[in-house]
Amino acid sequence: MMKAVQYRTVGSAPEAVEVPVPEPGPGQVLLKVTAAGLCHSDLAVMSWPAEQFPYPLPLTLGHEGVGTVAALGSGVTEVAEGDEVAVYGPWGCGRCRICAEGRENYCPHAAGLGIMPPGLGSPGALAEYMLVDSPRHLVPLNGLDPVQAAPLTDAGLTPYHAIRTSLPKLVPGSTAVVIGVGGLGHLAVQLLRALTSARVVALDVSKEKLELARSVGAHETLLSNGEAAARVRELTGGTGAEVVLDFVGAEATLAVAAASVAVAGDVTVVGIGGGTLAIGFGGGVPFGVSASAPYWGSRVELIDVVGLAREGLVSSHVETFSIVEAPLAYERLHAGEINGRAVVLPHG
Ligand code: NAD
Ligand code: ZN
Repeated sequence: MMKAVQYRTVGSAPEAVEVPVPEPGPGQVLLKVTAAGLCHSDLAVMSWPAEQFPYPLPLTLGHEGVGTVAALGSGVTEVAEGDEVAVYGPWGCGRCRICAEGRENYCPHAAGLGIMPPGLGSPGALAEYMLVDSPRHLVPLNGLDPVQAAPLTDAGLTPYHAIRTSLPKLVPGSTAVVIGVGGLGHLAVQLLRALTSARVVALDVSKEKLELARSVGAHETLLSNGEAAARVRELTGGTGAEVVLDFVGAEATLAVAAASVAVAGDVTVVGIGGGTLAIGFGGGVPFGVSASAPYWGSRVELIDVVGLAREGLVSSHVETFSIVEAPLAYERLHAGEINGRAVVLPHG
């Protein structure tokens, strides 16, 4: 038996429980989980009503996993026992054109085939052991610290994917606004600094988070309130920011995004805060603005992010918890009390 953190019934709090250690079937890999990150999306999942709940319950949580290969299913030759790896979470069918490009996060067949990411439908990383459906979904750590690596699999990968799309606009002299400097946002600030020469302006409602933003490289920090967009305009000589990345996605932050973005800029909505952005003539956003709501990232992008961390260009600011403390860590995340990422060490 092993410990796992499960969401067991709709509306209840997550619990640390004992479940059987899974056995790898053909083509699968069993990992001994060394670190697992807690994402705000888990809180969103646990707030959905029963009628809309899309996954089987009980659900072992955790979609940011790092581990050591513990056992191989038949036919697996690409990894060996003892390898330290990060799990690529947005599993696709592996056969279509989009998956062949490594963009499994956009596989149009996964849902129809019942393929679900670990922690978001399939048993996740908040457990002593986890199954990975294919060695294709493992990225070697090559010496990177597992605790550092766990947040990279989503909190690093998702902003990296979002920022890459906007790189042509992040030219010298440009400005990028990061709204929400939590798990994803604090890595977004670092990725912007590592990949671009843009000036980075970070917004949050918490002073501690703004301090973290500054310490990881934000040039300017602003409290996220009714004045924020005007301040962004001031800081940019009236033109606005070329790229606005919203890691909250609420009505209020999308209004700030729309009012802060420059003509022909990008608004990228990563946060699932339930807001929507109006596009159209007569209100909405300035001329030529592109808006997108990206999901997670591609396999090659995870390889890149792990590489950036290994080079010391990005590092996860983490607070660690034991597996039995995971429910408490979720409470603290809900209360806005985690600065950076909460990471669970299932083996202490
Ligand atoms: P988090 O809780 O670690 O960070 C959220 C941050 O936003 C906190 O620092 C909080 O203080 C700040 N915040 C809250 N309200 C704000 C406001 N009005 N203005 C400015 N800042 C505000 O969350 P996280 O794990 O980093 O996730 C961020 C969001 O991204 C969540 O909505 C999550 O569900 C979503 N997400 C989306 C994807 C995707 O693929 N699109 C992937 C992962 C997470
Ligand atoms: Zn997530």
